[in-house]
Amino acid sequence: FTEADFYQQNFNPRGYLEDYYSMSDGKKGAKAFLMQNLRSLHKIFSLDELRGGTLIDVGCGPTIYQLLSACERFQEIIALDYTDQNRQELEKWLKNEEGAFDWVPVVKYVCELEGDREKWAEKQEKVRKKVKQVLKCDVTKANPTGPVSLPPADCIVSTLCLEGACKDLPTFCSALRNIGTLVKPGGHLVMVTVLGETFYAFNKQVFSCLCLQKHEVEAAVEAAGFEVKLSEVQPYTESTECMDCQGVLALVARR
Ligand code: SAH
Repeated sequence: FTEADFYQQNFNPRGYLEDYYSMSDGKKGAKAFLMQNLRSLHKIFSLDELRGGTLIDVGCGPTIYQLLSACERFQEIIALDYTDQNRQELEKWLKNEEGAFDWVPVVKYVCELEGDREKWAEKQEKVRKKVKQVLKCDVTKANPTGPVSLPPADCIVSTLCLEGACKDLPTFCSALRNIGTLVKPGGHLVMVTVLGETFYAFNKQVFSCLCLQKHEVEAAVEAAGFEVKLSEVQPYTESTECMDCQGVLALVARR
């Protein structure tokens, strides 16, 4: 199983972004996968309860798509990831530096879901303003941000991270307990998790994925002290060589 240090050594943020987040018609499977996840996040971050002061993104990677709907609901965002190069790639976009990844097509799609495609520049600005910190974390540690301790947030979001970070179900369950400490009692957990996937690949690198079923994720979330409020599977039927995912679970739970 490819664990955290393998990510640090081998995860190429540019390769990942270009293969999965370019919205290009040449990458049909990836585009469908992304749009599906954006629609799930749009739906979730339209729920009345999903608002508050702070949001923590766990395992953010080099991506911002998971913050596009969420940024309308929370005042401040903290993004966490294990690998240095992913945090740097994210910072590059946040600082609007030259050579940063172009998220405009993705931002426009989310603005369209929200009813006004023309608001894309405003939304980019909002994300850039609201992300206050980008910090290192390890979801396998009891205090994922140790030695730093963050005040518990109103909500945590985690997309496509734990299934890549956890080698087996017990590790997945304990990672959920670990990240659960980052959210206040009464606060929410939002997860987007691939189901039935054993690997994903890009840039000639293959990464392991913990093969999960819906009921296993739900049970792990409950065992970590959350009450599941919404849990929906979108089947994934595109055939691509770059992953063997069967579906995607979008889940909301309350601590
Ligand atoms: N959230 C992004 C990135 C997912 S890729 C997206 O939705 O596309 C998986 C991410 O998990 C990588 O950025 C990797 O650095 C991170 N990761 C892997 N092991 C980790 C660990 N033990 N703790 C925290 N993050 C980890």
